[in-house]
Amino acid sequence: MTSAEDLRREVALGCRVLDREGQGDFIWGHVSARDPQGRGAWLKGAGLGFDEITSDDVILVDRDGGLLEGEGRVHFEYPIHTEVLAARPDVGAVVHTHAEAAVAFAATGMPLRPIGHEGTLFTPPDIARYTKTSDLIMNAELGASVAQALDARNAVLLVNHGIVTVGADVATAVMTAVILERACRSQLLASASGLPLTWTHDDEALRKREGVYGEHQIGAAWVYLRRRLDPDS
Ligand SMILES: [Zn+2]
Repeated sequence: MTSAEDLRREVALGCRVLDREGQGDFIWGHVSARDPQGRGAWLKGAGLGFDEITSDDVILVDRDGGLLEGEGRVHFEYPIHTEVLAARPDVGAVVHTHAEAAVAFAATGMPLRPIGHEGTLFTPPDIARYTKTSDLIMNAELGASVAQALDARNAVLLVNHGIVTVGADVATAVMTAVILERACRSQLLASASGLPLTWTHDDEALRKREGVYGEHQIGAAWVYLRRRLDPDS
């Protein structure tokens, strides 16, 4: 079992990776990991940018938003994390960001197409969308409705707001957020040409999901991102 201290380090690294990948939105957006003792979520503290986060800024939050361990303030949108973790026993980590290209893409209403490799991680079928509200997810009821829209998937677009991605661990949840943003950016770029698009057919897309983005590949890319941030790690 991963220790809480290791999880805090992973969550902090995830925040810094998301900053480097351009998903920071001043002090908004967060990463969490499930507490191995079942007490709640180890969540990035509020009031800090992704680039500033160290292990000490990752705090333990219970399902009611109570601060159990660590020093810091709890993000208003903590129910995204606590309710998704409650609904999905297979999920070990949750990411929520206001990723720019994903927000722009979701606003177009276009189905997500695998223009490059990236889209194959999400489609077919078309990516999930949450449309109940574009406002902040500040209570358990809304958090549960996001979890419902996510269903058994790895990502959901919060239309006119941001994204939520999940994974068995922080590496997978963060890499999924990075890949989703790239998928949305590629499609926006291609569709901006005004020309007809081509994309990978469904059977091949499903094969690529395993071949391009299998567990080993995601893990290797994560190690690279860690190395790029800290060459000594
Ligand atoms: Zn948000």
